[in-house]
Amino acid sequence: MYDIIIIGAGPAGMTAAIYARRAEKSVLVLEARSYGGQIVSTPEIENYPAAPHISGFDFATKVYEQAVELGAEFRFERVTGITDGSVKTVTTSGGSYEGRAVIIATGSECRRLGLPGEDKLAGRGISYCATCDGGFFRKKDVAVVGGGNTALEDALYLSGLARTVYVIHRRDSFRGDGATAARLRSKDNVKLVLNSRVTALEYGDRLTGIEVTDNDGGVSSIPLDGLFIAVGRTPENAPFAGLIELDGAGYVSASENCRTSVPGIFAAGDNRTKEVRQLVTAAADGAVAAGEAIKYLEGSGF
Ligand code: NAP
Repeated sequence: MYDIIIIGAGPAGMTAAIYARRAEKSVLVLEARSYGGQIVSTPEIENYPAAPHISGFDFATKVYEQAVELGAEFRFERVTGITDGSVKTVTTSGGSYEGRAVIIATGSECRRLGLPGEDKLAGRGISYCATCDGGFFRKKDVAVVGGGNTALEDALYLSGLARTVYVIHRRDSFRGDGATAARLRSKDNVKLVLNSRVTALEYGDRLTGIEVTDNDGGVSSIPLDGLFIAVGRTPENAPFAGLIELDGAGYVSASENCRTSVPGIFAAGDNRTKEVRQLVTAAADGAVAAGEAIKYLEGSGF
């Protein structure tokens, strides 16, 4: 039996673990993949206070090491559900664990374009992680689809490796930061393809190109070695849908105090309803959720 079980070892979950351990609560962190969450795909974090120019992987590793040093236990198992009660049972691919409180910090997963061939081409020219796979495309022609910070940062990173980087975005202005967009525009080997969507994938055994349709209906083809898809993310809350309240888009309905519709279960980070989904707000959520879980365990304010 643990005081607090944390589901997800991204910045929110690992920060919650740090705060809970510093309050001397026993902590189990369950993670389906490896520690770090989506931040490990970020080549360089430039907007976290006091840590400019750190890679997402290095940042995540430091937070992980801090949590482990403080005594948080990590198990790499996929959570399949939670049974509520005065003690909560969290079931995983590897077994089940009991906790007095639970923090769900599962984050989100990459959204697909939903085009025919997309799934089978993953790893054969299609990637959802520029830092993981960019090295395979040195001096090759690649495209990034999307207009958010992930797409802009991926394109900047790839511009240092690839011969040509096309950025395909469905509008004429970017959702991502102006400063990053300006740096991207200054790169000689970056070509912006705006007001356009990828409408088909061209392939044999591997991706060979894409069909692009502009907003006026004009269709063209771009030969490519690689396509990096960065069109946003969807929350990973499916195992909890029958237990806690989710909003229409699948995010956990939780306010700034991170409380869910079920007492003793809290949500932290990108998987909850919120205005700003950033590294700094994910870490902040971890601290808030841990504080609320501690209050719940100690019977104050509930
Ligand atoms: P995002 O901000 O939601 O942007 C998704 C982009 O993909 C948007 O430009 C969107 O176009 C486009 N898009 C969505 N669905 C599409 C489709 N079906 N076809 C074509 N384009 C599509 O997602 P994100 O870039 O992954 O970022 C997620 C969150 O993490 C954001 O809050 C972001 O600021 C944050 N983030 C922060 C950092 C950092 O702080 N360093 C780094 C990466 C990400 P529209 O603009 O037209 O909607």
